[in-house]
Amino acid sequence: MALIIGNWKMNGLRSGLDEAGKVAEGKREGDRLVICPPSTLLMAMAEALDGTGVEVGAQDCHMSASGAHTGRVSAEMLKDAGATYCIIGHSECRDECGDTDGLLGEKLAAVLRAGLKPVFCVGESLETREAGGAIDHVKRQLEVVEGEAGRAIVAYEPIWAIGTGKTPSADDIAAMHEAMHAVLGDGTELLYGGSVKPANAAEILSLPHVDGALVGGASLKAEDFLGIAHAS
Ligand code: PGA
Repeated sequence: MALIIGNWKMNGLRSGLDEAGKVAEGKREGDRLVICPPSTLLMAMAEALDGTGVEVGAQDCHMSASGAHTGRVSAEMLKDAGATYCIIGHSECRDECGDTDGLLGEKLAAVLRAGLKPVFCVGESLETREAGGAIDHVKRQLEVVEGEAGRAIVAYEPIWAIGTGKTPSADDIAAMHEAMHAVLGDGTELLYGGSVKPANAAEILSLPHVDGALVGGASLKAEDFLGIAHAS
């Protein structure tokens, strides 16, 4: 069954818990659903979803377990709050939080140390795609996670497809996932992310080596999120 992870990004007030409750109500036997809310909602959402089978994840973490890091949250704290997954290396974070490959290696180690499942994001810019360098670029990004293949989930998210309504062709997604699978092997689940919605989910999720989806905008409404989960 496909793994469908919702990334709420910096969206969601307390009222968002109702939407998460609707996801739990609509969950079918065997669905594998995860919601990654902003950290302000993490604990309340984990409590609200406890026992429903819908899991909760975080969107980023600090490398250290605790200490003098004003404004930051550790993987251990996220686990304590009820998270079971943690996204790292999202392109918005690579861009806004200064995530370098070196830092991401440390974050990956922190997530595993805390006992969370890392969702490691990779993906190329439009410029790189148009220059024909997408696969090489992603392979280079995968070097951070290669040593932990089998313990991590990897999400291919072309930057130009995030929040734009554009997606690569089915052939391009399949070629990228084939290349990632060749590097990481059978033990690593590979997700596609970038403008996944109920209307395109069935095609994307049917591609070889696409084991699920990382969903941004369409995860904010339970109906759309469930529509993606039930498309395949
Ligand atoms: P999108 O975002 O579904 O809104 O394109 C995906 C993501 O950033 O994870």
